[in-house]
Amino acid sequence: MDNLLNTEPTSTLQGLWAKTAQGSSDFYEFKGDRFSDVAVIGGGYTGLSAALHLAQKACTVTLLEANHIGFGGAGRNVGLVNAGLWLMPDDVVKNVGHEFGERLVTELGNSPDLVFSLIDEHDIQCEAVRKGTLHCAHSLSGFNALKQRKIQWQQRGAPVQLLDKADADPLIGSHEFHGALLDLRAGTIQPLSYALGLARAADNSGADLFVHSPVTGIKRKNGKYHITTSKGTLTAKAVILACQGYAQDGVKNNLKALVPFNYFQFSTKPLSEAELKTILPKKHGAWDTDTILSSFRLDKDGHLIVGSVGNIEGIAKKIHKAWALRSIKKVFPQIRTIEFEFGWYGTIAMTSGHIPGFQILGPDFISVTGYNGRGIGPGTYFGKAMAQYLLEHDKKLVPLPAQKLKPIFSRELRGLFYETGARMYHLIQRRI
Ligand SMILES: Cc1cc2nc3c(=O)[nH]c(=O)nc-3n(C[C@H](O)[C@H](O)[C@H](O)COP(=O)(O)OP(=O)(O)OC[C@H]3O[C@@H](n4cnc5c(N)ncnc54)[C@H](O)[C@@H]3O)c2cc1C
Repeated sequence: MDNLLNTEPTSTLQGLWAKTAQGSSDFYEFKGDRFSDVAVIGGGYTGLSAALHLAQKACTVTLLEANHIGFGGAGRNVGLVNAGLWLMPDDVVKNVGHEFGERLVTELGNSPDLVFSLIDEHDIQCEAVRKGTLHCAHSLSGFNALKQRKIQWQQRGAPVQLLDKADADPLIGSHEFHGALLDLRAGTIQPLSYALGLARAADNSGADLFVHSPVTGIKRKNGKYHITTSKGTLTAKAVILACQGYAQDGVKNNLKALVPFNYFQFSTKPLSEAELKTILPKKHGAWDTDTILSSFRLDKDGHLIVGSVGNIEGIAKKIHKAWALRSIKKVFPQIRTIEFEFGWYGTIAMTSGHIPGFQILGPDFISVTGYNGRGIGPGTYFGKAMAQYLLEHDKKLVPLPAQKLKPIFSRELRGLFYETGARMYHLIQRRI
């Protein structure tokens, strides 16, 4: 079974998502010289949403992707289309300040509306299910934290419901939790299919997309940007940098402000009809309140996908895979046989304050980076917001203070700390 597990970080395969993806990344490599109003660097949700929204406004836009569309977080994530950021709304406002805080909370709280409306508008086949997500309390203190989250969202009019254990258990299909927060704004998608669908929509709207074209340098001369790849030069009036934790070659500088945080997933063979009647029967996506959190969801074919913190390189694969097996047995004892089909992982871009950073890197050269594990809604939203910013030249269209992200000198060490902590935890958790 192990040889089926796709653990190669630079592989073009992204586990189950690569196997079941709808759509293709069938675009040309960038060659020669070309001019465009806007250059977008990175073919994940942020870059694709920016390219789509710019092209819809009759702006010429060229997107350069180093690998294939959805190579980064967009093709590897859990597929939970969550509302808002990881931090609770009050903490977002505290961290960002009043000028932007409440608007940021509102916009990102509504970001699933944007995602699901794009899916409808462009008929993106990505297994979209919008029935809400369940944030499950792993302990009583986790349940108390969910109470706070509920209060803060309800004060802002959001449709969230705190479920006690009796109501949550049948929706999760497990007796392991103390209750859950049901957020009806949220849902699930097949993440790679969504990226491929956005790419098709951008292409259909007139954007020029290129793959296998890593940007190796960006220079400003005579009021224009000259963006080089190994086979050509793109000249543009404006640039959107959208590479997150996967930045490579000529745009790596941004990485210094991000802490790498790996997250793995294992998917089982499809569950039986009887099992699917009891496990997440309403197809909610779910994750828990634990510090080393875990997530679980189903896809359209009934594969159960379980994930948590860590990479699955070398010895770590053994530890995390054994944990995933024990976890499924403990959380869903009704599953008779557990066989994994795929394992994969990706790198989440974390910022020190858990808030994305908006940077103005030069005249009409902008970037929003560091979604801290919440990038489907925020990436789609900030891609659109950056497009509007460039079209209308109004800084307020991006609800974040512009800042220069400071390098985090201990970033590697902090990444290692998360990695080691997750391994230790997974060695001992759910043994009895
Ligand atoms: C394992 C995992 C689980 C996650 N789970 C969730 C979840 O359930 N819900 C959620 O909302 N978010 C989740 N996230 C976060 C989410 O996936 C990211 O925030 C999102 O993908 C960010 O989108 P993006 O377009 O900004 O960046 P990415 O999707 O990372 O795309 C960046 C792209 O830039 C390209 N690039 C890099 N350097 C260059 C260069 N020099 N030239 C050209 N192109 C370049 C890369 O190849 C890559 O394709 C998860 C992330 C991971 C890794």
